[in-house]
Amino acid sequence: MMQKQQRKYPTECILCTEKLSEIPMQDTQLLRKFMSGQNKILPRRKTGACAKHQRSVAREIKRGRDMGVLRFRGQ
Ligand SMILES: [Zn+2]
Repeated sequence: MMQKQQRKYPTECILCTEKLSEIPMQDTQLLRKFMSGQNKILPRRKTGACAKHQRSVAREIKRGRDMGVLRFRGQ
């Protein structure tokens, strides 16, 4: 029997481990970690972020898109 369960996503919230309470919108490198290749916001089960940080990340990504520092989906 082959068990193939890949875990390529973090299981812990990387923002909690880095002790970041607020996500700087200018930090696009960080925000891109929470986006897929098609610039979609990744779901929590893939990012591993806690509910609090996932919410703020999603908010900052949306704000970043408005400001033009991040891309919209499919762009
Ligand atoms: Zn967190």
